Amino acid sequence: MSSDIDYLDGNAAAGEMSKIFVMDVTAAEGQCAHCGTKKRFAEAHVYMRGPGVVARCVVCGQVLLRLATVRQRVFLDARGMTYFCLDLGYEGGRISSNR
Ligand SMILES: [Zn+2]
Repeated sequence: MSSDIDYLDGNAAAGEMSKIFVMDVTAAEGQCAHCGTKKRFAEAHVYMRGPGVVARCVVCGQVLLRLATVRQRVFLDARGMTYFCLDLGYEGGRISSNR
């Protein structure tokens, strides 16, 4: 039995994203610049078979974010998102009480 699914969820990009974000981006919320959907990054469809990482909107399929590492430089293209919101109180599934 074969599957046509060739993407992973946003959690798969956590390692690559940690090159530029200190915080866990999989818990971050973003808004698709194309269709306006607001979702956690972990829900995005992530493609990692190319030279970099491409995250696509789970609703409309448009590119949300591209990340590529070329030698010592990391390129981030996030123009597919209206915003990308990281929660300072998020600690691996629970919200910190000492804000
Ligand atoms: Zn969308």
